[in-house]
Amino acid sequence: MAGGWSKDGAVQDQIDASVDDAVKLARSRLSAGKSLTHCEECGAAIPEARQVAIPGVRLCVTCQSERDAHQETPTGYNRRGSKDSQLR
Ligand SMILES: [Zn+2]
Repeated sequence: MAGGWSKDGAVQDQIDASVDDAVKLARSRLSAGKSLTHCEECGAAIPEARQVAIPGVRLCVTCQSERDAHQETPTGYNRRGSKDSQLR
């Protein structure tokens, strides 16, 4: 009964594990702790559901998505930096 199907189960375990890691990573980015009731950026009220869903949330949805947009791929600097130092 087990045979070939156990392999699929192992793959599913790996997928579950990486999702778990992603959640942990996302949570560690937020300063865990007390959620703010109002956005520290614009002062808008943060819905209670959001405060509960994201422990330590400090920004409203609008400000958070703006901040996320600015934070994408800062790796370009590193590449350019290491290339420079290699040339010297
Ligand atoms: Zn805001």
